[in-house]
Amino acid sequence: MKTISTEIRKVRNNSGEITFTFERKNIKNINLRVRHNGSVYVSAPKSVCEEDVDAFVLSKFDYIRNALDNFSNNDIPKTELQYVSGENVTFLGKNMRINVVKDNREYVNCDGVYVYIHVKRTDYYNRKKNLLNKWLDEQSDIIFSEIMQKVHSKFGAYNISLPELKIRNMASRWGSCQPYKSIITLNKRLIEAPKNCIEYVLYHEFCHFVHPNHSKQFYELLQVMLPNWQIVKISLENTLINKPYI
Ligand SMILES: [Zn+2]
Repeated sequence: MKTISTEIRKVRNNSGEITFTFERKNIKNINLRVRHNGSVYVSAPKSVCEEDVDAFVLSKFDYIRNALDNFSNNDIPKTELQYVSGENVTFLGKNMRINVVKDNREYVNCDGVYVYIHVKRTDYYNRKKNLLNKWLDEQSDIIFSEIMQKVHSKFGAYNISLPELKIRNMASRWGSCQPYKSIITLNKRLIEAPKNCIEYVLYHEFCHFVHPNHSKQFYELLQVMLPNWQIVKISLENTLINKPYI
């Protein structure tokens, strides 16, 4: 059945809140589905007003909660972000809370506890997603560059020119380098990790400018440059689920 519109809605009662994806369709009745990934999905015909949809979801509150609890016990991956207030985003090793703010000017800022998404339409999923991702990309660019310059300065004895920094989605690695092209590439997801972990990945990559392989000499140099690298490596591996490696 053709979807007319999609939005993210929230209902709340004394025992908590439920966020659901709501679609308008050419159908006769309201449908509710709780998916195995923990998302709640509701569709309704055009004739039903939003208040009635919310009331319907609230009437199923206990059923939805039970279904979600059962699924979460099955070790199923967490839901994708819905970009609603109260959700967590991991930023530099800290859990920040999303706070969606209705505003005429659209931007994102952060006070160390909350990440505020200022947006004209607070129910517009794609806009919020784009705003947050753009902000995270800008932050990554600034923070990774700063750390790269700091680590680069420690390699003064090796006469390495400051490489070009690329930030990419990388499926299986934290970082990589092309010493002959003077390029270091970092995984976008490193912005979730503490700064000392980002630093460790850069130390590793800069050591490759001296020793291209993971030879004994490579690890000897890494040990000299960053004596606690093994501890930081473990903390990086413990920071994130679905961890890449170097
Ligand atoms: Zn390596």
